[in-house]
Amino acid sequence: MNAKRVVIIGAGPAGLMAADVLSAHGIQVDVFEAKASVGRKFLVAGKGGLNITHSEPLADFILRYDQTDWLKPMLEEFDAQKIVSWMESLGISSFIGTSGRIFPTEMKAAPLLRRWLSQLKKRGVKVHCNHYWEGFAPEGSLRFATAEGTKVITPNTTLLALGGASWPSLGSDGAWVNILVQKKIPITPLLPSNCGFKTTWSQHMDSHLGKPLKNIAGWVKNDSGEIQKSSSEAILTTYGIEGGLIYALSRPLRENIVSDGEATLYLDLLPYITLSKLHALLSPSGKQSINNIWRKAGLDNVKIALIREGLSKDKWSDPIFTAAFIKEYPIKLTGMQPIEEAISTAGGVKRKALTEDLMIKALPNVYCAGEMLDWDAPTGGYLLTASFASGRFAAKGILKNLT
Ligand SMILES: Cc1cc2nc3c(=O)[nH]c(=O)nc-3n(C[C@H](O)[C@H](O)[C@H](O)COP(=O)(O)OP(=O)(O)OC[C@H]3O[C@@H](n4cnc5c(N)ncnc54)[C@H](O)[C@@H]3O)c2cc1C
Repeated sequence: MNAKRVVIIGAGPAGLMAADVLSAHGIQVDVFEAKASVGRKFLVAGKGGLNITHSEPLADFILRYDQTDWLKPMLEEFDAQKIVSWMESLGISSFIGTSGRIFPTEMKAAPLLRRWLSQLKKRGVKVHCNHYWEGFAPEGSLRFATAEGTKVITPNTTLLALGGASWPSLGSDGAWVNILVQKKIPITPLLPSNCGFKTTWSQHMDSHLGKPLKNIAGWVKNDSGEIQKSSSEAILTTYGIEGGLIYALSRPLRENIVSDGEATLYLDLLPYITLSKLHALLSPSGKQSINNIWRKAGLDNVKIALIREGLSKDKWSDPIFTAAFIKEYPIKLTGMQPIEEAISTAGGVKRKALTEDLMIKALPNVYCAGEMLDWDAPTGGYLLTASFASGRFAAKGILKNLT
C-alpha cells in the first residue's frame, strides 16, 4: 500500500470519524470491520434516542471525564457545537432536550449514519465488512479472518478503533486486549461502566422490582473521601439497581467495589423537601396510618416499600429517625453487572502507551482511538463525543505524520 493509504480497523463512531477527516484530506482510507455491517453499537445507541452530545459549557463538559487533561485538547477540537454543525453539514438537525442533552431531531442514529456513509463513499473510503482482525502478522502486517480465509495486509499506517467490550454481539469483543498485551502495551483492565449494580432485596420487594424510583438524588464517597452526587431516577431490578442515577455514579461505585469488595450508595428519596420540613410532615396531628403519613409527605408505593425494606418496624413512627433515613437511605452494593451488559467500558490503552497524537509508542504508525482508550465518562452524550473527538484527533495526528 502506498504511504498515503491508511487502514482503519473498526467501523464505529471513532473509526468512521477518523475516516471522515482523512478522506477529506485526500487520503485513501480502507476501513475493516468484523461485522457484516458498520456502526452496530451506534445504531443501538440510537434506539431509545441518540443522545449524541451535551449542551453544557465546555469547561463543565470536560469535567465529566476521568481523564480530563488527556481528553481536553481532543474535546476542544470537536465539542458539542462542532458535533451539531457536523450533523447539519450532513443535513441532520438536532435539538436540546430538557436536561441539556442533544439529540438529532429524528432521534435515531440510522438517518445520520446513512448520510455519513454516503459522504464517505463519495470521498472514496472503502469499507470491508466481515473482516475480523486477529492480530499482527510478522513485520507489522495485519491478519484478518474472512469468509475466504486469512488475509494479510501490510499498511504503512493503521488506526485501531475497536471499541470496548460491552454488548459484544454488536462487534466490540475486547479481544484486542490480549493482542496488545502480548506486544507489552500498557493497558488498564476493562471493567463495566454505566452499568447496573448488585444488591439483595428481600421477598417483600418482589412486586416492586422493575419499577422506577423517580426524582431521587444519590451520592457515593470515593476512595479519597470526596462525595460524588447526582440526581435523576433509578430502577429496582431482580439483581439490584440500575438507571440514570446509578450510571452517573458508576465510576466511584465501581472503584469502591474494586478496592473494598463493596460500595455504599446513599439515596435521598425526597430531595426537594428539607430535613426539617420532612420532619414536620412526618409528625402529623391526629391519628393517621403510617402509610397515609408517608404518602402525604410525597412518598410513592416503591419508596414506601423501600423504607419498609430498610427500616425496622419499631422506627416507622419515629419522625426524626424516619426523616433522616429517607434523606440518607443506604444501599450496600456488592458487585457490578457483567461487562457484556454494561453500556460502556472503563479501562483500555493507557495514556502513557501513546504519543500525544495517539500513536502507540511501541508500535510506530499504529494509532488508537475511541472507547478502547483508557477513559471513562457517564452517559449523557459524553461517550459518543469522546469517541468522535479522539477519532478526529488520531486522524489529525496521522495527517501530521504522513506529510
Ligand atoms: C445500549 C447502548 C446505548 C448507548 N447509548 C449511548 C448514548 O445515547 N450516547 C452516548 O454518548 N453513548 C452511548 N453509548 C455508547 C457508545 O455507543 C459507544 O461509546 C461508542 O459506540 C464507542 O465508539 P467506538 O467507535 O469507540 O467503538 P464501537 O462503537 O464499539 O465500534 C468499534 C467497532 O470495531 C469493530 N471491531 C471490534 N473488534 C474488531 C476486530 N477484531 N476486527 C474488526 N473489527 C472489530 C466492532 O465491530 C465495531 O463496529 C451506548 C452504548 C450502548 C451499548
